[in-house]
Amino acid sequence: MPYKDPDKQREYQCRWIAKRREGFFSSKVCHTCGAKEALELHHPCPETKVSHNIWSWSTARREAEIAKCVVLCETCHAAESAGQARERQCHLSPAQRQEVRLLRRQGWRVKDLAQRFGVSCDVIYWTCRSLAPLPRLRLAA
Ligand SMILES: [Zn+2]
Repeated sequence: MPYKDPDKQREYQCRWIAKRREGFFSSKVCHTCGAKEALELHHPCPETKVSHNIWSWSTARREAEIAKCVVLCETCHAAESAGQARERQCHLSPAQRQEVRLLRRQGWRVKDLAQRFGVSCDVIYWTCRSLAPLPRLRLAA
């Protein structure tokens, strides 16, 4: 139902998106530890990931994206993603890693670095983790 007030419209959208997300996770458990709370979607193959912002999508499109995912709790998801980033960091040579850190220090955005080096943002975050301060990595799906 459309609202005239954009704030109300946004609130309404947030509410049904949250509801849909809750509905999906209500019958799920963490694939790793069996937890029922703080569940998120994890993409085991980040290369195939389109988005984690899927809850407003049409059913067919959403289900296609969900099919590429496993359900993990927040804790297991964080552990999994960190491991994934570590693994993928191997795709950057030591010289590239040095260049990433240098460019990051010069103010390059993580997104742009990821694109330039053909890796995920996680890899850039991981490579630059010793450089402070960095924005916190958001893992929520
Ligand atoms: Zn878990």
